[in-house]
Amino acid sequence: MRAIVLREPNRFALEEIKDPVPNTGEVEIRVRLAGICGTDLHVLRGHNPFVAYPLIPGHEYVGEVLKAPEGSSLRVGQRVIVYPGKGCNTCKACREGRTIHCPQFEFIGVSRSGGGFAEKVVVHENHVIPLPDNLADIEASLIEPLAVAVHATRRAGMSENITNGPIVAIIGGGTIGLLIAQVAKKFGASSVILSEPLAGRRLLAAKMGIDAVCNPAEEDLADFVAERIGMVDIVFDAVASPATFLSSEKALRPGGRLVAVGLPSSKTMGIPYELLFKKELSAIATRTYFRSDFKDAIDLARNKAVALTALISAVLPLAEFREGVKLLEAEPERYTKILIDPVV
Ligand SMILES: [Zn+2]
Ligand SMILES: [Zn+2]
Repeated sequence: MRAIVLREPNRFALEEIKDPVPNTGEVEIRVRLAGICGTDLHVLRGHNPFVAYPLIPGHEYVGEVLKAPEGSSLRVGQRVIVYPGKGCNTCKACREGRTIHCPQFEFIGVSRSGGGFAEKVVVHENHVIPLPDNLADIEASLIEPLAVAVHATRRAGMSENITNGPIVAIIGGGTIGLLIAQVAKKFGASSVILSEPLAGRRLLAAKMGIDAVCNPAEEDLADFVAERIGMVDIVFDAVASPATFLSSEKALRPGGRLVAVGLPSSKTMGIPYELLFKKELSAIATRTYFRSDFKDAIDLARNKAVALTALISAVLPLAEFREGVKLLEAEPERYTKILIDPVV
């Protein structure tokens, strides 16, 4: 089969490799669509410390079952997505579906095989989640990042049972930021403000019904909210740099919550402590998701509660994977999410 193989940082190419063969309990899946995300760019460039080489990357994919294990409830042809988290399956965290808290946590497409930039994948049945019929492939390909947004929003204490809830700001209008903004609205935010320097993405945010959109190149988020609304209750910082942490802390009311979303760029991140202390802010980190967040993401997508397809900028064949990476890196103004279609 054809697959993108990453041999070492920056050395990746389309290769003809042997088809993966399912062992006991494993499912063979034909990939129908796989999204390229910011994590993949970090993985390809050698900026992710967890990568196991050689690697077939890709953790946001939808496919159809080619071969199911004996006794499985999965059927051939069934459309599925894959939960990429893997733990030991026996510790308390694993038993409670909190795979990311397992001491042996691994991630398909980053630290273990089974990545979706390939014609086929083989994963254990435990990872496979069947899709409802009314969810198109193109929407299903965004369930994984939507689960990230659901998890972050729940970490902030928000839920579908809240009405007229907190005032929320989001720093960063990429796929994750735009999804958090939408989930926050569904989970009771009374107002949602997004801060994003790229005009194309600000336009996308306005189309998605975000209440106010700030251009941080012209005005700091804290000044922007001070003029319009005072201070905010929760900031989701999807950029997560020392500079954006400081903006978040300034924009937050005393007792507010700073939710850091995303892989740290350094060990300490130089978190500004003074305002955190003065305002008694809560700093919350969020890392991917729990199993239950996938179920919630599927429900949100199935009920058309979140705009997903608007995030997709292009669909490219597997042979143009490198081009897709280039476009995301060079033209973030125009490209938010690019999907790879290995079938064409
Ligand atoms: Zn991702
Ligand atoms: Zn475990």
